[in-house]
Amino acid sequence: MSKKIGLIATGGTIAGVQAPDMQSYTAGIVPIGALLSGLRFEGAEIYSTQLANIDSCDMDADLWFALVRAVDAALADMDGIVITHGTDTLEESAFLLQLLVATRKPIVLTGANRPSNALGADGLRNLYNALCIACSERAHGVLVTMNDSIFAPTDCVKATTLGADCFAAHNGALGYVQQGAVHFLRVQSHVLPHFSARSPESFARVEILFSYAHNGLGVILDALVRDGVRGVVIAGSGAGNVHFALKRALCAYQPDELTIVCASRVARSFVAPAILQAPQWIAAGYLSPFAARILLALLLGSGATHDAIARTFCQFGD
Ligand code: ASP
Repeated sequence: MSKKIGLIATGGTIAGVQAPDMQSYTAGIVPIGALLSGLRFEGAEIYSTQLANIDSCDMDADLWFALVRAVDAALADMDGIVITHGTDTLEESAFLLQLLVATRKPIVLTGANRPSNALGADGLRNLYNALCIACSERAHGVLVTMNDSIFAPTDCVKATTLGADCFAAHNGALGYVQQGAVHFLRVQSHVLPHFSARSPESFARVEILFSYAHNGLGVILDALVRDGVRGVVIAGSGAGNVHFALKRALCAYQPDELTIVCASRVARSFVAPAILQAPQWIAAGYLSPFAARILLALLLGSGATHDAIARTFCQFGD
């Protein structure tokens, strides 16, 4: 019996259209039905839904949780799920889904670096590969695929806007797709915390502040806290270093007023607890600032204590 795959479309460059002069394009234009009509895939019955058609730089918590609920609903009777998504925030949505949806069924996110009508458009190939992965008996949980590679959401980041090789992973690719055959080099071994949150209210306000030379961001911290921000992720320089002016502003807050997690702005990096510049801060391990922000927002939204938050982050490298 052929598999049933739910295809949830959210927009992105994969659904983008390039202007006739080929100088610019708009993401999130082509409906999923039109994209699918250009693809021959006989390995499964595909049930598609157009959840949104946006440029993923505009992703927000309302759409995130609508996506989570759409995934929950599709998991009830589908064997696997494919999500088309803009690459700008694809890694964030993938990590969020990994924390919120507990399933062994494959949930595969894909996108494109080139719009649907561009020369050498990569979207249909990525979509085809994602469908192959979603049908594979060896694929489990949330995965990302682009440019014939398969990545784990915990460590995949958009690494280039040029060419089709969009994502890179700290720990390397999990596997590859070649002529429709899905090959895994290793399995996702990380045991992640799981959250049952199903509404945007469970996603606490957390913002990211970058550290860099001659840093002046300290002046906006009070405004952020007044506006309801409960946590800050620092995208530190190097292995989690923070400019003294930003550090001074952050250290004015006690952990019960503001939870501070320190990550690194460097793509391949590791922030260890031992190198933290303030004892009350929490180290993000190998999580990117963007992944750390999602984890911290869900932890604060679920009422976790400072100790519980620190213990959870420890799982990402102590
Ligand atoms: N700005 C686009 C988006 O994220 C980029 C892409 O899809 O590659 O929707």
